[in-house]
Amino acid sequence: MNYRKLMEDWIAAAWRARAAAFAVVALALAGCASTGDLPAPAAQQPKNIIIMFADGASSTQWDFGRYSSQVLRQRPFATTDTVFRSGSLGLVSTQPSNAYVVDSAAAGSAMSTGHKVNNAAVAVTPDGKPVPTAMEVAKATGKRIGLVTTATVYDATPAAFSLHAISRRDSQGLVDQYLELAPDVLMGGGADFFLPAGTPGGKRKDGKDIIAAFRAKGYQVARNPAELNAATGARLLGLFAEEDMDFELDRDPAREPTTAEMATAALRVLSRDSPNGFILLVENENVDTAGHANDAASLMHALWAFDDAVGVALEFQRRNPDTLVIITGDHETGGFSPTYAQKDLSTLSSKNRFYTGDEQLRMLGRITISLNGVKEKLGKKPSGEVLDKLIAEHFPGFKLDPDLRELILTQKPLERNFTYVPQNLLGRMVARQSGYYWGTSGHTPEPAVVGAIGPGAELFRGYQDNTDFGKHLHRLISGR
Ligand SMILES: [Zn+2]
Repeated sequence: MNYRKLMEDWIAAAWRARAAAFAVVALALAGCASTGDLPAPAAQQPKNIIIMFADGASSTQWDFGRYSSQVLRQRPFATTDTVFRSGSLGLVSTQPSNAYVVDSAAAGSAMSTGHKVNNAAVAVTPDGKPVPTAMEVAKATGKRIGLVTTATVYDATPAAFSLHAISRRDSQGLVDQYLELAPDVLMGGGADFFLPAGTPGGKRKDGKDIIAAFRAKGYQVARNPAELNAATGARLLGLFAEEDMDFELDRDPAREPTTAEMATAALRVLSRDSPNGFILLVENENVDTAGHANDAASLMHALWAFDDAVGVALEFQRRNPDTLVIITGDHETGGFSPTYAQKDLSTLSSKNRFYTGDEQLRMLGRITISLNGVKEKLGKKPSGEVLDKLIAEHFPGFKLDPDLRELILTQKPLERNFTYVPQNLLGRMVARQSGYYWGTSGHTPEPAVVGAIGPGAELFRGYQDNTDFGKHLHRLISGR
């Protein structure tokens, strides 16, 4: 299939439509001048759009961010307290073409293109047709574009907002497409598929060095926070990890920037020489990864890191009111269920019950490692001695029940829908004492919450489909 030809045809059509739209606006303005009437109110078109994207977050995650930030940080949570409260609020249904439960590729594709696709497809419909992504539309209409994530830059969400592939697993092909699309800002993990196999951290099979190819196109390249903060060029490639960037609990601040630091740098670069404005996607993927692991402590820190970046976006909007800020997730991850529960099974009496609250939240706040970090430290053959030591050191106040300990040491799951071992078992340990239970290690069909503030925000109000989100985005970008 010749994607390139299809896209060229499409971009040419977009330019023709844009010229036509200008003609219509000119006519409308000429009409006003002669009659003295004001032009009919159209959907307000923002100059800049910032999409803040917490993969795997829906209403329970957002409310947990608000509650935990208030109790443990004594700080408001900008997502709920500012954007959801003062902006437009909506829900979007998420099902893909070929299932009820969605993956991030199909969810991101619908939100970027306005079309339903199959799970794992990246902006390619079930009949094999690539459909224009939000970033392609933005580029065709003369806007600058940027993609920021804590995942690999070729991961499902940033890819679905900009590129095309039958399968999201085509990492090398997706990186090649980035070089061709040339986003003004591209930042996250995933240096592995930019570098040839045989070089440190490289996995490419064709021997190419794509970091060098970006440099040759005039990009500044940042590989750590110091280089990121010093970047002053007009185009920026930031690669801070070979694969995904770390959870906040495990992150080395000298090696990897925060989501807020990446958002700050992206806005600095994109707002330079930007007469037509820009569209920026900032994704925190660790919200989703923590959900898969059933890791409530890592989820909490990921939500805070995300919300700090929302603060950066809102501050930019304060200085540039022609900016629309959208906050969203793509689906819910983990069936996250903070609840009340029995302290143990000695009696089912309500006297033996606890409601999760501040005391249990403080226990989460004292955890000092992610559950993925525990897996790494346990290695391929977990030993009881290492396991007990890790729990004593990093999970103060928690005890591992014998049933869970046995499953971890024999590397067996609790159930068929808890496929991450040992993370989901450790997640259950945390849940039994804190009430932060989870229903699955996968995604759920809970509708995604969309909050929007700024020009055009009203389009996102109410209960809609995720393809409507994509259609609104295209309309706001292209003015059609
Ligand atoms: Zn996921």
